[in-house]
Amino acid sequence: MTITDDQQNRLRELQKVFLEENTKLNLSAIREPDAIWIGNISDSLVALDLEIFQASDLKVLDIGTGGGFPLLPLAVCKPECKFFGLDSTQKKLDSIGRMTIALHLNNVRLITGRCEEKGRDAQHRDSYDIVTARAVAPLNVLLEYCAPFVKPGGHLIAWKSMKMDTEMEESLLARAELSCHLQQQYEYELPDDWGKRQLLIFEKTSATHKKYPRETGIPKKNPLL
Ligand code: SAM
Repeated sequence: MTITDDQQNRLRELQKVFLEENTKLNLSAIREPDAIWIGNISDSLVALDLEIFQASDLKVLDIGTGGGFPLLPLAVCKPECKFFGLDSTQKKLDSIGRMTIALHLNNVRLITGRCEEKGRDAQHRDSYDIVTARAVAPLNVLLEYCAPFVKPGGHLIAWKSMKMDTEMEESLLARAELSCHLQQQYEYELPDDWGKRQLLIFEKTSATHKKYPRETGIPKKNPLL
């Protein structure tokens, strides 16, 4: 991936403003500047290595964006794309709002709500080229949260650890029901002692059946198994 000097400076600014916001609100357990750089910013930017992120004009939705990862680093480095961040917690989105102003980011919009509700809204359903999610839910729950938002032929990217055997096996029904085909497992290693991680890239092969997502709370309480 190529990052310009201006983008590098804005990522450093993000590191600083995130640190400030994190003292006001418990956005993340990662609190040291170097750890924010590696564990949040670099970890988010790994997606830029993927083929599907090379296109311009993408419409990207980050589900459960929390403190703004991977949303904000990706928005800094892909200014030609439109980014949307969704979370159920207004205070976290207020914090992201302040960070986008500090960074002069004009390609980010924030959506307050639950995936289970917004995924049924015609304004959002089947309409994003890429949906991203990091640290939100086990894979079977995550697919039900994310898939309804993805355009048929579009993609979903899940940031996951390497210990995924059980989660992968337990996602087989969700993958079939939600037309999510596992296209790629992209392994990477972060510096220092952060270790190996992976991105799981799914292609949504057809429109989501109208029975999904189920009512608020049901995907987590009664996951597709
Ligand atoms: N993606 C961020 C990161 O990696 O740092 C934040 C992860 S945080 C552990 C999970 C976030 O997902 C929380 O902010 C929570 O409010 C949000 N979340 C969980 N379930 C959700 C749902 N069903 N709809 C909307 N947001 C949800």
